[in-house]
Amino acid sequence: MITVDSPLTVVVGDQATKRKRMAEGLGLHTVGDLLRHFPRRYVKAGELTRVADLHEGEVLTVVGEIARSELKQYRDRRTNRMAFRLETVLQTDGPRLRMTFFAKSAHTARWQEGRLAVGRRGVFVGQVSSFRGEWQLTNPKMILFGVSNAEEGEADVVDSYGDLYPIYPQTKGVESWDIQRAVSFARSVVDDVPDLIPESVMDEHDLVDARTALDLVHAPDTFAQVEVARRRYRFEEALVTQVVLARRRAYLHAQGAQARTGGGGLLAAFDARLPFELTAGQREVAEAVEADLAQPHPMNRLLQGEVGSGKTVVALRAMLRVVDSGGQAALLAPTEVLAQQHFRSITAMLGDLAAGGMLGGAADGTTVALLTGSMGKAARAEAMSRMASGEAGITVGTHALLEDKVMFADLGLVVVDEQHRFGVEQRAALTDKAGFPPHVLVMTATPIPRTVAMTVFGDLEVSTLTELPAGRAPIQTNVVPLAEQPTWIDRVWQRVREEVEKGHQAYVVCPRITGDELEEGERDVLEVGEDDEVPVPAPKQSLSAVTEVVEQLASGPLAGLRVEMLHGKLPPDEKDRVMRAFAAGEIDVLVSTTVIEVGVDVANATTMVLLDADRFGISQLHQMRGRVGRGGLPGLCLLVSHAEAGSPARERLDAVAATTDGFALSRLDLDQRREGDVLGSSQSGFRSSLTMLRVLRDEDTIVAARQAAVGLLERDPDLGSAPALAAAVAELEQSRQSDFMEKA
Ligand code: ADP
Ligand code: MG
Repeated sequence: MITVDSPLTVVVGDQATKRKRMAEGLGLHTVGDLLRHFPRRYVKAGELTRVADLHEGEVLTVVGEIARSELKQYRDRRTNRMAFRLETVLQTDGPRLRMTFFAKSAHTARWQEGRLAVGRRGVFVGQVSSFRGEWQLTNPKMILFGVSNAEEGEADVVDSYGDLYPIYPQTKGVESWDIQRAVSFARSVVDDVPDLIPESVMDEHDLVDARTALDLVHAPDTFAQVEVARRRYRFEEALVTQVVLARRRAYLHAQGAQARTGGGGLLAAFDARLPFELTAGQREVAEAVEADLAQPHPMNRLLQGEVGSGKTVVALRAMLRVVDSGGQAALLAPTEVLAQQHFRSITAMLGDLAAGGMLGGAADGTTVALLTGSMGKAARAEAMSRMASGEAGITVGTHALLEDKVMFADLGLVVVDEQHRFGVEQRAALTDKAGFPPHVLVMTATPIPRTVAMTVFGDLEVSTLTELPAGRAPIQTNVVPLAEQPTWIDRVWQRVREEVEKGHQAYVVCPRITGDELEEGERDVLEVGEDDEVPVPAPKQSLSAVTEVVEQLASGPLAGLRVEMLHGKLPPDEKDRVMRAFAAGEIDVLVSTTVIEVGVDVANATTMVLLDADRFGISQLHQMRGRVGRGGLPGLCLLVSHAEAGSPARERLDAVAATTDGFALSRLDLDQRREGDVLGSSQSGFRSSLTMLRVLRDEDTIVAARQAAVGLLERDPDLGSAPALAAAVAELEQSRQSDFMEKA
């Protein structure tokens, strides 16, 4: 019996090369893989593809009806033998097209003549050439509607097609043509198509069964049928993902964690000295976090909010709660600069509460340790011993925290700042260091739409801070279009000068460090169309680089101002010195890479100039401009770009200039990318499964599937009644990409 698990051999036969190419080029190994190789698009019968503007040699796919057919016999001059030529005319919706078929034997010629009789309809694919001023196809490949398409000596595959003809993604040596025939045969011999979706769910969500979906997607009569099939497949994908996530939540929930409640008075002391009132949003999240921490199973919460919305204060309060209960907390930052900044601001906010055990320290105090890769051996050893002994209630660090030799006495809470830079594996590595699974709070300033949160971070509860603390001034953003207005750059530097003269500071951000070095974590921005990823062609003029811009500015338009630079390749001491000097107002203009993207907080900085702004992603731009307008002073952000009006790059910039709504921008950003890009290769175990789903477009499907998944698991936690679904779930859970699941 041929099943979806049978090897491709059974439908492709002993065409070894073709099979190999299907495996290597398209990843098709089993009959099931083949059946899941869906058409990329469909050609509508009667639709002639651009005959009007054809070029010699172009491949044409055309649907039409044979209007004339005449068999001719002639003497081949080379072989001096009789040969045959079937001359036909194809009537399309538009013009007519000549098609000529050559045959060596009378037998083949007659057979061909019979198949291509007047009135026969089909799809023809071939390279066009011009013959006596007319376009013609010579020996085109074809699928004829309503007749056998088998060649002599091959198994007969009978299939009839309606008005739509499927076009498959192809690879070298395997054409849509070959795939169509293999699929067609496979559909006729496979009886049993396992159905992942339980019947009750199908009924409730009005979905067709697996068999019907297969037939509709591969051989539809109408586009509406294709859509019916696609809807079912999208739901199926979403369901498997959501079941995996729901099981993961249940698994985490079932794990023991230490409830962290009460104890010392550190949190109360901190609250008492907080120089401001928490916003209503902060209070609400803080309560949810405290409730989570009091549970005997681990918190897994994502805290999102715009830069400056006060996430860090909320996180610090959670850390203090854990310290009060006798445990330790660690804050993991994505960069050295940011770790140092967190360390400084936490120490400052705590004041003498951070001088635990020291002369003059508060009675309830604790100690804050810093651990980063660039610290000297002795300093590291000291920090590590304070962490291992439990003396350090709070530790702030970078990736260095993840190393094996790092140990804690009683790690109760891990706070991860800026999630988008951390892989799930790294999160797992840190949680491994605790005896019990620790509580985890993830902070991100990149607004994540609900469905992305549900898909990528589906194992996390999500809290959002929507209001900014009072006193935040608006940021005005303008595009400086150098393509049309090259001289406006002078005005940009003049504006920076004016701000500095008012006693303010400015950032100048460049995409590169030197002429050829990208900043850590930076990627070249991709323009993405519906189907293909096309890298942006290298720009003709070189991109602004920190080391060059700093010199040009200091000796040119900003001469006389205190201009310095900051980027990821500077020695750590130097980075630290520059940040301190900028924070202290000893630098007027800081020329930097995106290292300033996250967390850097200088209230007196009012202006940001982004050079070659089109090189940054939408979310990144939004994130960066959050660095200005923090101190109650209105912020100005200038997006300098050579991108031409109307280009996609320019449209992105215009969108950023037009709104400060991070969620709207984030949607736009996601809309322009493909899922793989959205999820990031290191972030999601579900990347490979998201082939049909688009996280934004399919929001409703994802929400429905999540609800169905939860319902199914409530009734039947082991999915005993849905074996096909259980198998798909197990496969996804075990796939290499979801390795992290076992780690946590
Ligand atoms: P985020 O981490 O979300 O970027 P922070 O927690 O760093 O935001 O807060 C940004 C700034 O706002 C900090 O200087 C912080 O002290 C201040 N801040 C936080 N919460 C409030 C509040 N409720 N009222 C006034 N200022 C606040
Ligand atoms: Mg922050």
